[in-house]
Order: sequence, then C-alpha cells, then structure tokens
Amino acid sequence: MRSRYSAYVLGLIDYVVATTLPAQQAGLDKAAMSAWSAQSIWLGLEVESHEPLGGVPEHAWVTFVARWHDAEGEHAHRERSAFVQQQRHWYFLDPTVPLTAGRNDPCPCGSTAKFKKCCGPFLP
Ligand SMILES: [Zn+2]
Repeated sequence: MRSRYSAYVLGLIDYVVATTLPAQQAGLDKAAMSAWSAQSIWLGLEVESHEPLGGVPEHAWVTFVARWHDAEGEHAHRERSAFVQQQRHWYFLDPTVPLTAGRNDPCPCGSTAKFKKCCGPFLP
C-alpha cells in the first residue's frame, strides 16, 4: 500500500500496474493514472488499519486515507481496499476493474478457492 502511494507520488505508473491483481492489469487506464499522478501534489498517506479479510488466507483489508492537492483544491480519499498475496507478493484488488470469472470458477487471484468464496464478494 505504502509503496503504491509512493509510486503515484513519483509517477511510477508501471509499478502501480504491476502491483494490481494480474487478472485486472489489462483493464487499467494507464493514461488516466499517469495524468492523476502528474497533476496532483501529493500530501500524504495514512494507513489506518489492516486486518485479515473474511477468513480467506492470504487476503487482507487495508484502510487508508490519501491526501492530494490539484487545480480544484485539496482532496482526501478514504478507502478500504482488499489485497491478496500470491507467491509472497501482495496485489491490490481494484474495485473499478470487473473480473469476468463465474461464481464457481477458480478465483482469478490464484487461490484454489471458488471465485464466489474468495475475492468475488469484494468486487463489483
Ligand atoms: Zn481470490
């Protein structure tokens, strides 16, 4: 989480993409992410909490507040995000990028659980 925020500050959008769930990376709008990164003055990140997610191993919730300033003024965005660990790397589950797995398909996060019992409830 902190490294993703730092990547936004530094404009390292490839890193932000690489730390998003691999099954969602193709659906990210890199141009919009780059523009947001470049047009904002980043004011800080506060990680409020992190906790295991719903009894599923290697999944976690992170609650954070990111603050930035842009042409429209100062913003604070509070979000509770789901992260999943694969081969010791943590990936962000992007709630804005739909996954196409069926409810009974293996979860695209790479766990052996069905999508509906794994990441499905945390995504639209
Ligand atoms: Zn999953």
